[in-house]
Amino acid sequence: MAVTRDNVLAALQNVRLGGQPLSASGRLSEISIDPTGRISFAIAASPAEAGTLEPVRAAAEAAVRALPGAGAVFVMLTADRPAAPGRPGPSPAARGPAAPPRAQAVPGVKRIVAVASGKGGVGKSTLSCNLALALKLQGLSVGLLDADIYGPSAPKLFGLSGKPRLVGERMLEPLDGYGVKVMSIGFLVDESSAMIWRGPMVTSAIQQLLREVAWGELDVLIVDMPPGTGDAQLTMAQSTPLSGAVIVSTPQDLALIDARRGVAMFQKVEIPILGVVENMSTFVCPHCGTASPIFGHGGARHEAEKLGVPFLGEIPLHMEIRENSDAGRPVVVADPGTAHARAFMDVAQRLWAGLESDGGRRAPPRIVIE
Ligand code: ADP
Repeated sequence: MAVTRDNVLAALQNVRLGGQPLSASGRLSEISIDPTGRISFAIAASPAEAGTLEPVRAAAEAAVRALPGAGAVFVMLTADRPAAPGRPGPSPAARGPAAPPRAQAVPGVKRIVAVASGKGGVGKSTLSCNLALALKLQGLSVGLLDADIYGPSAPKLFGLSGKPRLVGERMLEPLDGYGVKVMSIGFLVDESSAMIWRGPMVTSAIQQLLREVAWGELDVLIVDMPPGTGDAQLTMAQSTPLSGAVIVSTPQDLALIDARRGVAMFQKVEIPILGVVENMSTFVCPHCGTASPIFGHGGARHEAEKLGVPFLGEIPLHMEIRENSDAGRPVVVADPGTAHARAFMDVAQRLWAGLESDGGRRAPPRIVIE
């Protein structure tokens, strides 16, 4: 018999939060039940409450899992509102570079690399996906965690639509995207309910995706970060055991200012910058092959030099990159011989060489803002 929303709410009557049933606490998100019986929902929690509410989350998951007919159950702690309404918490800047909590390693995963951008739409997900595939083509075992909880795009980019299987009690099996192990919030909730994850703090949701996925042995896990440099991104960077970060930017001045903020954010929490990538560097005409620098060109290289961080390469703006992405066949696997696919592979090679040369433990370079 299929589980209904009312069944879930009834089960949550027996889970207590602050002396009242969880179902009456006003902290529950929409309950999503898909046709396979997978049940997912979130419990709103401020960053400070995340630790104390973990037993409540676990109890809620157990109570719902015990319902006859329940499939996989996925309950997250997430903040979809500030902890104290009307009294926003201190900004990351105001809080200062307080000692970051030591992020726990993910067993079996040797290196975790964040791909980040100062703002959305610069090609962060496109780079993450093609970078993961290019590293895979180099013979490495690679995973991709789509942590862009505001707009997960790995399902589309890899052409994946299935649901992850549950392994054992609560580990999810990543999906296979051309040999890369892929996990995305987009596999767990449909696009409309993904809206419920919006909020100032998405860290606990991402941490669950990081730690409750059966990644197996990986040489490198690429994390497609949420765009921007706000509190959520900072907390996320702090609580993930990152070897380093790659910053993506387009060549325009405005994008570069955002990229500089991205560099500063990682440096604030002492995460090495593995390099900067310039995406949409020059427009390559699909008809005649002529390259035109419509957004300018070379800005990111110059910026990287100024900041004293490595420059990993340029990716041209090419129609095929967009078309292949939309078709779920990333250019690195669809057309590996093309110049634009090679551009991704060159970036991957430089990134890996940098990671291997110092194990990702390079001291963060000093940042000078002029
Ligand atoms: P972000 O993750 O930064 O929001 P996306 O990777 O989703 O950005 O890219 C935004 C859009 O730009 C997508 O439609 C993508 O296909 C397209 N795009 C990204 N990089 C390129 C490129 N180098 N050439 C052509 N289209 C690109």
